[in-house]
Amino acid sequence: MNQKLITSPIPQLVKQQREFFRTEQTQSLSFRLEQLTKLKQAIVDRQEAIVRAAKADLGRPAFEAYFEIATLGEINLALKQLKNWVKPQRVKSPIDQFPAAAWIQPDPLGVVLIIGPWNYPFQLIISPLVGAIAAGNCAILKPSEHAPETSRVVAELIAATFDPDYVAVAEGDVNVSQQLLAEKFDHIFFTGGTAVGRIVMAAAAQHLTPVTLELGGKSPCIVDGNIHLDRAAKRIAWGKFINTGQTCIAPDYLLVQRQIKPDLVDRIKYHIKEFYGADPAKSPDYGRIIHRQHFDRLIACLDRGEIVLGGEYNPADRYLAPTLIDGVTWDDPVMQEEIFGPILPILTYDTLEDAISQVNARPKPLALYFFSQDRDRQEQILRTTSSGGVCINDTVMQVGVNALPFGGVGESGMGSYHGKASFNTFSHFKSVLRREFWLDLGWRYAPYTAQGLAQIKKIVTG
Ligand code: NAD
Repeated sequence: MNQKLITSPIPQLVKQQREFFRTEQTQSLSFRLEQLTKLKQAIVDRQEAIVRAAKADLGRPAFEAYFEIATLGEINLALKQLKNWVKPQRVKSPIDQFPAAAWIQPDPLGVVLIIGPWNYPFQLIISPLVGAIAAGNCAILKPSEHAPETSRVVAELIAATFDPDYVAVAEGDVNVSQQLLAEKFDHIFFTGGTAVGRIVMAAAAQHLTPVTLELGGKSPCIVDGNIHLDRAAKRIAWGKFINTGQTCIAPDYLLVQRQIKPDLVDRIKYHIKEFYGADPAKSPDYGRIIHRQHFDRLIACLDRGEIVLGGEYNPADRYLAPTLIDGVTWDDPVMQEEIFGPILPILTYDTLEDAISQVNARPKPLALYFFSQDRDRQEQILRTTSSGGVCINDTVMQVGVNALPFGGVGESGMGSYHGKASFNTFSHFKSVLRREFWLDLGWRYAPYTAQGLAQIKKIVTG
């Protein structure tokens, strides 16, 4: 295995990758497939290490650590489909261009930067890497410093699998991130908060580097009625409290039709107890908050409203119980920014139009959840709201369909990935027109003639 360590400072590393990219080795389909196969094997070999790291960083149960390893699904899909994705696409050229051929050819971008967050610290670095490799790029990865064990596993895995001139990891904090952002890349793929997303985009603008921003926001969960109440409650509780609520597409808050609120809240309470027992602090299936600053921010959210379940916490191990808060208003701290933790505020509405206008008065969310079996109301939600994605009658599960591009809109981000969308994100679709010399109709050249004028009139006006 290749254990070449990265000793080069960042500008040197970028230069080396650029030189490697120019060798054209990353261009061939066979090279890309070989690298994806190596990456797959490296992940399979390190399952235990990934699970241990997720436990150390986030108190994650092994079951949920496998959400990280699920990135294998992205690799498998790319291995199967890449030969189709790389194919140039023939397009029709107009008759006046005859003889000619026109096509769209996916080109690698070059050297790309991938910056990741701490909440799914393995998957959110490796999954974009799959797209970068599939599309024929070199890549530098910057995992989050707040998940140090996972960062170490990523660094070891990449160093053991790839030459740093091709794929390398730059571990570290904001300083490292800023040093990287000072360099010119061909694409920056950033997953993290909206505030840092703005910083990344401003830095990228200096080099006119395109960005994909996978950001967060407050994803509403609208529960309208005409549902299987118990299953809805169970699915909401699951999506909210996996990874201790630290999921970018977790339902941030409940917006529930007034009449069904008491029953729904009862069933959510029931399922939380079923999942984590009477004392979730003792459950092996319930994680912890990533770091103290984030923990303190969450505790400050408990000040207002009526806690109807949970609310217990322990700073020593950054434990915060699954918590439901009723009687919340939009002015309360918990509704001011993305919660990103195990607190579910409950708001009510009377008419669906009222719920929609509450959602539309805020920045466009990453995900929107709608519970109702009524097809007309589902249609109404799809027509009148804007969000990165929508999942009807469940939560979080949309991320598991890799044929669905994953990404935000407005303040929840720009661009998307997963499946073919990842390949597209890391490719430039180059337009090519090829002419031949054996025919050269003269009507387009000066001096212009009446015949030429008649010809162009015909072409332009049809
Ligand atoms: P963050 O924005 O604080 O950090 C993300 C990365 O940016 C880290 O690697 C960090 O080192 C780097 N960074 C931090 N400050 C920086 C700065 N000033 N300049 C340059 N780089 C900087 O995000 P986080 O706290 O790690 O993750 C939580 C956020 O990520 C939430 O808002 C969540 O919704 C979002 N998120 C989005 C997705 C998605 O797919 N859309 C997935 C997971 C998390």
